Amino acid sequence: MFESLSDRLGGVFDRLRGRGALTEADVRGAMREVRVALLEADVALPVARDFVDKVTEQAIGHNVLRSVTPGQQVVKIVHDALVAMLGADESALLLDVTPPAVVMMVGLQGSGKTTTTAKIAKRLSTGSLAGRERKKVLMASLDVNRPAAQEQLATLGTQVEVATLPIVAGQQPVEIARRALQAAKLQGYDVLMLDTAGRLHVDQALMDEMKAVADIARPAEILLVVDSLTGQDAVNVAQNFSDQVPLTGVVLTRMDGDARGGAALSMRSVTGKPIKFAGTGEKMDALEAFHPERVAGRILGMGDVVSLVERAAESIQVEDAERMAAKMAKGQFDMNDLRGQLAQMRRMGGLGALAGMMPGMKKAQGALAQAGGDKVLIHMDAMIGSMTVKERGKPELINAKRKIRIAKGSGTTVQEVNKLLKMHQEMSTAMKKIKKMGGLKGMMAMLG
Ligand code: GDP
Repeated sequence: MFESLSDRLGGVFDRLRGRGALTEADVRGAMREVRVALLEADVALPVARDFVDKVTEQAIGHNVLRSVTPGQQVVKIVHDALVAMLGADESALLLDVTPPAVVMMVGLQGSGKTTTTAKIAKRLSTGSLAGRERKKVLMASLDVNRPAAQEQLATLGTQVEVATLPIVAGQQPVEIARRALQAAKLQGYDVLMLDTAGRLHVDQALMDEMKAVADIARPAEILLVVDSLTGQDAVNVAQNFSDQVPLTGVVLTRMDGDARGGAALSMRSVTGKPIKFAGTGEKMDALEAFHPERVAGRILGMGDVVSLVERAAESIQVEDAERMAAKMAKGQFDMNDLRGQLAQMRRMGGLGALAGMMPGMKKAQGALAQAGGDKVLIHMDAMIGSMTVKERGKPELINAKRKIRIAKGSGTTVQEVNKLLKMHQEMSTAMKKIKKMGGLKGMMAMLG
């Protein structure tokens, strides 16, 4: 996500931060580069222009240039402006209505609507969304155009263990919606998810059908699913839908393949609709609540410690989590912990997925990928294996001579040992940040 934009901005800000003093001309020069970077990321022109104007005005005023760390301050201003551009606060699903709360999913064919319907249903039914209560969820497909669309949803339902409305051949969308509502009421479902029919492009028949369904179902949420890879087209589609049906939010799919991020960055400003979720892969777990603050942090290479911990918490054992929390509370993190983390990383989808979330790891991510991706994890494990017990507990003991021994013992090079030590250092800093935020428990509490 956002890799190319992140790289471009990283370069601009490294140069800014590298200087002791900044002049107005330096800031204006940097902002010209930011503008180009945003346009290359396929951000809508008025949005990019407005962003740069606001940041320039703030950076040149407010005594920023006379401060001790002008570069840092400018980056902070850019960060805050990015958060505002992405939509400020996280927008959760609002399902606090008399049950069943209806969530209507709309969008073009192939946007990932059916997949996203099942992903959200899974999160609701396992209690990882909407106040973290487990919801009793029913899904129904109203797609009578695409052959086997209803069966596709039923198959996904089985996979994520969420009920789907039995299929009755020949029924029209409005009739299916009525039947689904009735079933949901009678059988005490908390949430009814309606997967509506897609089309190849926006047309009036589709809009009329959606309006008819919305009239009957009175949805608490109408979520538009759009493919982020289509860039500004995604924003245009959202605008079109939004003119016709009262959308409550947008889900951007295929963010996993979107290095530019133009749709995510322009969506809120252009359509006024919040992005509620990001789809990040084909698997049923590949869905993230969209947190503007965290996303801005990732774009600027500041890392996303909160998502990292959440991800970790999902895939590690409770005892592990508690042991880790205790360590974190003390701000301790030695090579044994790193080794445990490496094993977990392999379980959590490898380095690539994680490095982007770690503070200061954005650059290392590229290097690691070049160095052979997850093979690196195995090498790292071997290097830690070649350390003495003392060295593992106190990595600062590892001097040049010891590095040579460790490299020999693990069949690696001193450069690789250095990289490992640097990584340990970065993680240790991240742990200290977590400690400052009140430890794992504090963070979890913050996440609600
Ligand atoms: P629909 O026609 O809008 O219902 O689209 P589908 O839900 O059938 O999805 C079309 C294809 O996109 C499927 O192969 C999905 O696995 C894939 N897909 C959906 N969401 C994502 C995502 O976030 N990332 C990736 N990589 N693929 C996705």
